[in-house]
Amino acid sequence: MALDFVGPDQPRYDQSNADVLLWQTRYRIVLAMLATVMAVISRTMGWLSLSPVAVLQLGESTADWLVAVSAVAYVAIVLALHTHVQRSRRASRTLATLMMVGDLLLVFILVYVLAAPEHYDRALLVALFALQLTHVYFGREPALLMLAATASGYLFISDLAMKAVGVGSWPSALLTLLIFAIGAGLVTLVQSHMHERLARLLDMFARAEDGDFTATYDVAADVRPDAITHVGRAYNRMRAHLADIVETDALSGCVNRRGYEQQFRRELARAARTQTELAIIDIDLDHFKQINDTHGHLTGDQVITEAGELLRANARAGDIVARTGGEEFSILAPGSGLAGAQHLALRIVEAFRRREFAGALRIPVTASVGVVAETITDEGVAEDLLARADEALYAAKRSGRNRVVIWSSGLAALRSNQPDALLRPPQDEPSSVR
Ligand code: GH3
Ligand code: MG
Ligand code: MG
Repeated sequence: MALDFVGPDQPRYDQSNADVLLWQTRYRIVLAMLATVMAVISRTMGWLSLSPVAVLQLGESTADWLVAVSAVAYVAIVLALHTHVQRSRRASRTLATLMMVGDLLLVFILVYVLAAPEHYDRALLVALFALQLTHVYFGREPALLMLAATASGYLFISDLAMKAVGVGSWPSALLTLLIFAIGAGLVTLVQSHMHERLARLLDMFARAEDGDFTATYDVAADVRPDAITHVGRAYNRMRAHLADIVETDALSGCVNRRGYEQQFRRELARAARTQTELAIIDIDLDHFKQINDTHGHLTGDQVITEAGELLRANARAGDIVARTGGEEFSILAPGSGLAGAQHLALRIVEAFRRREFAGALRIPVTASVGVVAETITDEGVAEDLLARADEALYAAKRSGRNRVVIWSSGLAALRSNQPDALLRPPQDEPSSVR
């Protein structure tokens, strides 16, 4: 089904149009042939008489030929278009609309030649069907164009009937058209709404394909739930499940790097919007290589698993605990100021000190922690914030490990100019806390 794609999705829209046009070819040809063969048989057998309008304006034999020639021309155009679309695998909205207008033209010619003038409004019945299909497969704009083409076609043959045989009148033709337009307009409106919702769902699927599970389908917004609501609900269930799998690190049970990056962006935007504080607590296990070297990689893995559990147990409910590297973790604490973040960081370092890891092996593991906490006023500070947490962690490592360092403006200068000075943290701001 084609939806109202815009911008970068245009190729996808063109491809979708092409698919629809290709499968519709068979139906177009069969329907056109069927209508023509039935008309020719009925004419030959004398079951069907020509419209007096067409007879008067074209003459009997020209009218008969017009049916056959239009049908052949129509089939030829459909086949030519099919070949073109098959080759390019693309069909613009204009091309799709032209094809539908071609359908309409054939319908109006058949009605003009074969129906009695008082029954010309039957063309509107067929047009309503075509309009519906246009909207379902090609979207709102082509459908509105079809509506305009139908109105013009109907007024044109009504005018011919009025002029040739005096059947019908403008007020009656306009009233019929008005009723048709109201009905068709309502159908188009309802369908447009469905298309918008489907397009939104499709966008969510496309984002999920790229690993972005932030969007959810707003089930509550559907006042009258329908099939799309069910698909939305199913998407939400699948989203929660997949987000869990895709954004969780299997070894530590924490959020993985991909999930962390997404949540970081989201929390940063939220904090910037509300001008609130955000803290980052970077944790790196000390001398982890030695654990691997002494006890083996599997034991190292076990320690990472237990470290993940320990961090999650110490974090608050709203905090995001992530494993951002091999033996590196990061906690994002929305709404946490310096005092809260420092408190959490100290609790973590203390928890590592008090605990032994890998069961019976009772391995002592310590952690170095870097903390940054700031009131966020704009999203542009993302890189700075991450770099500052990293600088603080680096300072904790350089100043002896197994400690917390809070980022301060002095740290950056110290790191780039005189790394050894980090052993003596600046005195004016709280920096290293054991
Ligand atoms: P430092 O105190 O400076 O952080 O020393 P370190 O040994 O912890 O740091 P380094 O970066 O030198 O080494 C990290 C080690 O972590 C090296 C790598 O083999 C190990 N590691 C990384 N990912 C995993 C993992 O998934 N499982 C295990 N068992 N080890 C890992
Ligand atoms: Mg380490
Ligand atoms: Mg490391």
